[in-house]
Amino acid sequence: MAEEDSVKSTAAVSRYLLGAELIKQGAEARVYRGSFLGKGCIIKERFRKRYRNPVLDEKLIRRRTAQEIRSILRCRKAGLNAPVVYFVDQTTNCIFLEEISNSVTVREYISSAQASGQSAESLYSLADKIGKVLGKMHDEDVVHGDLTTSNMLLVKEQEGKDGKLVLIDFGLSYISALPEDKGVDMYVLEKAFLSTHPNTETLFLRLLQSYSSSSKKSPAVIKKLDEVRLRGRKRSMVG
Ligand code: AMP
Repeated sequence: MAEEDSVKSTAAVSRYLLGAELIKQGAEARVYRGSFLGKGCIIKERFRKRYRNPVLDEKLIRRRTAQEIRSILRCRKAGLNAPVVYFVDQTTNCIFLEEISNSVTVREYISSAQASGQSAESLYSLADKIGKVLGKMHDEDVVHGDLTTSNMLLVKEQEGKDGKLVLIDFGLSYISALPEDKGVDMYVLEKAFLSTHPNTETLFLRLLQSYSSSSKKSPAVIKKLDEVRLRGRKRSMVG
């Protein structure tokens, strides 16, 4: 990108973000709460890394942005909950997404349930919900790439309605039909889940059961998950 273009792009980003509130500073992107055409929205800005080759950096940023949008659209088309994409600016690498209001991350939800002494059984319906959503996502050949309980939002229940689960942060996602890729996706979640939420082995098992019963392609994925676990164990034994 020419220097002049880069200056213009920086100015455009600053305009967008005027009055926006920074909610997360990540290694690759900043996330803001802002507005789009008068509506509350989430703005995700992927920024450049000075230490990377500028051409490579630009390519990587564009690829991640495109992957994120592609997977969100694919999920939404299949009836899965993911934020609406309002606008994408390829010059500034900013994505404007629907703000999922009245929600908490699944991480916060489980942590506060555990802190208040709720039983594991009281979280079974949440585990069922997560398993079902992930099974459907994998049947659409969307591999999330960074499944954690922080990347799932739970909309607070309204009267008589079950709170819906919304998947977010598809920056590392890709499209793949390979059971191995889906197995690794579930392995990443298992690792993150069990290390973030202590004593939740039965809860995670419940999630996997729900995944298996909701996904047509699950037997091959679970087989791969077992293999990946074994590989992980061997690696940690070797050190
Ligand atoms: P991310 O880097 O995409 O995981 O976003 C960081 C944090 O911003 C999340 O943990 C959520 O708390 C919040 N967040 C991201 N996207 C949304 C959204 N569409 N609606 C509401 N909150 C969001």
